[in-house]
Amino acid sequence: MKVLKFGGTSVGSVKSIRSLKRIVEQTAKQQQVVVVVSALGGITDQLLATAQQALQGDDEWKQQFNEMVDRHHKLIDTIITDNARREELFNTVDALFEQLRSIYFGVYLIHDLSRKTQDAIVSYGERLSSKIVATFIKGAKWYDAREFIKTERKHDKHTLDSQLTYKLVKHTFATLPRISLVPGFISQDKNTNEITNLGRGGSDYTASIIAAALNAEILEIWTDVNGFMTADPKVIKAAYTINELSYIEAMELCNFGAKVVYPPTIYPVCVKNIPIKVKNTFDPDGEGTIIKAQIANDGKPIKGISSIKGTALINVSGLSMVGVIGVNRRIFTALADKGISVFLVSQASSENSTSIGVQEKDAEEAVKVLNEEFAKEIQTGAMFSMKAQKGLATIAIVGENMRHLPGIAAKLFETLGRSGISVIAFAQGSSETNISVVIEAAYLRKALNVLHDSFFLSEYKVLNLFICGIGTVGGKLIEQIRTQYEELKRHSQLKLNVVGIASSKRAIYSRDGIDLNNYREALKESDLSSPSALRDHILNMNIFNSVFVDCTASEEIAALYQTFLEHNISVVAANKIAASSPYNEYLTLKQTAVMRGVKFRYETNVGAGLPIIGTINDLRNSGDKILKIEAVLSGTLNFIFNELSADVPFSETVRRAQAEGYSEPDPRIDLSGKDVIRKLVILTREAGYKAEQKDVEKHLFVPADYFEGSLDDFWKRLPLLDADFDARRKRLEEQGQRWRFVASMEHGHMQVALQAVDRQHPFYNLEGSNNIVLLTTERYKDYPMQIQGYGAGADVTAAGVFANIMSIANI
Ligand code: ADP
Ligand code: ASP
Ligand code: MG
Repeated sequence: MKVLKFGGTSVGSVKSIRSLKRIVEQTAKQQQVVVVVSALGGITDQLLATAQQALQGDDEWKQQFNEMVDRHHKLIDTIITDNARREELFNTVDALFEQLRSIYFGVYLIHDLSRKTQDAIVSYGERLSSKIVATFIKGAKWYDAREFIKTERKHDKHTLDSQLTYKLVKHTFATLPRISLVPGFISQDKNTNEITNLGRGGSDYTASIIAAALNAEILEIWTDVNGFMTADPKVIKAAYTINELSYIEAMELCNFGAKVVYPPTIYPVCVKNIPIKVKNTFDPDGEGTIIKAQIANDGKPIKGISSIKGTALINVSGLSMVGVIGVNRRIFTALADKGISVFLVSQASSENSTSIGVQEKDAEEAVKVLNEEFAKEIQTGAMFSMKAQKGLATIAIVGENMRHLPGIAAKLFETLGRSGISVIAFAQGSSETNISVVIEAAYLRKALNVLHDSFFLSEYKVLNLFICGIGTVGGKLIEQIRTQYEELKRHSQLKLNVVGIASSKRAIYSRDGIDLNNYREALKESDLSSPSALRDHILNMNIFNSVFVDCTASEEIAALYQTFLEHNISVVAANKIAASSPYNEYLTLKQTAVMRGVKFRYETNVGAGLPIIGTINDLRNSGDKILKIEAVLSGTLNFIFNELSADVPFSETVRRAQAEGYSEPDPRIDLSGKDVIRKLVILTREAGYKAEQKDVEKHLFVPADYFEGSLDDFWKRLPLLDADFDARRKRLEEQGQRWRFVASMEHGHMQVALQAVDRQHPFYNLEGSNNIVLLTTERYKDYPMQIQGYGAGADVTAAGVFANIMSIANI
């Protein structure tokens, strides 16, 4: 025979209950089945919430009650087509609801909700659902679980009297009908006959007890997900089904919060060596999980990750504890006497401090108990008074293979550390099948994601991008990501998830990824933002593997990098401000990135998409020394000097450079040499010199006072320079030379100047807005290394930013 348990979602809707019926009838063709059902999904919570409303004298309880009645009525109306059977079921169900209404009314009138009353109320969920399913499946025989699932009171808790229960179960099911139907969760106190229950999630336990008592062939748990998964699929999108688990692994995962199976469920069937199968009611043919004693070794270091929110830590410490025998016994006895369970203990070998993990709801009580237990020691100063640290969460990684594989704990710590998550307490059982860490609850989602990413070769690596700036470069970048998305997913197993987009005024965010087809519309409808709001939002999202991409030219945005890096968010900047800021700030940014194990990349700061910074770094890393840099680094200025002709005066070339999108929005930044100076400083720093903008020797070609007034004034005055430029241009042409605005560095000395180059010079034939860099190094001495190509333009710059993002993904 088999025992099949169906959870709340499996009896919660017409679709699921029909699927349940098919599964049961199919199984019953081969052998007898005992079916255990939970209350309709959500009803247990609603029963409890309604009781609280009644207790508070809130009239809303009636409305809630009616909603529950309605939901059950509608379900019956839809699924039971036979009139007589439906009538009979309505009578049964309405009689139950009448009792329930009376109980609620009593609570409402006398403002009292005892534990006993609450247990009675909450039992109606399963009593109702089981009657409905028993009627829906023709030939099923309904049993009253209270007659054979017996509890007794211990430490203020209802605990199963297994001996009595097993005896009664065997007796009740001495002759098994083809299909038996049992309400899960509910039980009865063996002494007082009060209705009790097995705890939230307890239907799994009911099923396990019956399976064990009757020596079932298998216990099947039917739920709403595809079996036992590597993590809670509601939190970790990449979680996948574990095919096989040992009883021990399942027990560890359940004890640490994998709600898919209620923890006490495992033991009864484990003792009898009855396997558990976890399957999805909504996908009966889908793969599930088998839990049994002996499983094949799949070679994976861990099987799953689970977590408990609402953890509190209590630190029992004091100098007199060292070497004292019995402190731990007293701690645990005192807590056990009050029925407080401890799920994690961490003791440093110095023995002067023991950290105890309890559930947050038990924390105050536990502190009180311990302070009383050690009152004398605290009074003499031998021990410190205890307090609970709340707002924590516990994560456990589980797998029997850990026993044979060294380095798992190191990987756990390394992964969390890289994401800026500190471990507050840590415990590993000597069985080595579970390592648990306590962290701040705010970091739980992030921690689960990074751990899952690092321990399981999930199908995809995910990079979460915040893109700031949607102008020419940002806009193109988003476009490139959109068109490349599927290709990267397919061929590089990389998901580029854009989780935030900010324009200069507004911002949108989505943890699951923004639809890149209509982000501009979404931005228009979003709230106003600011750099500080952007920073706060990104930090609050606390998302794993994230990269901040700056496609603005804003100083305020560049000022956010330091905070982002400190919070383990990588930064890719098209914006040159940070890398050319005072040397100490630049250095701090770089050092922070190294310390935090994240990346600070800004390849497009010089030469747009050309691989200049990366090449300099590669040369240095391989032991070369950069002796000299000569470069034309301004696409704008090169464009201007290439355009200049008898027909096109100087002022007009500047206008064209702006219209074509080569120059900065304010062309004075280019003409004043500021842009080239920034680039030269960045290259000099990358080459290993401590460089500042003020150290650059400048030989400019537009008088300094042109840069002082407004932009309007500048445009008005610019034509005044045309005549002089034209005269100089003529002379230059006669000599067969061309102008290039050259940035150079030799042994740390930097200079920018307008130079006339002749036909033999490598810079002479530099077309359009192209850039060129000559690197003279110890290895490239007689013939410098030459890098040349488009040095400006939104497309190539965006592509350079994209390449930087890819380098962070390590692809
Ligand atoms: P039921 O009503 O069927 O008893 P539960 O809600 O009690 O269902 O348990 C199923 C839920 O457990 C899933 O929907 C899932 O969100 C959660 N869960 C947590 N951890 C895991 C895990 N490791 N594998 C599968 N589900 C998990
Ligand atoms: N209905 C109960 C609960 O929600 C028992 C169960 O679903 O297993 O906790
Ligand atoms: Mg459950």
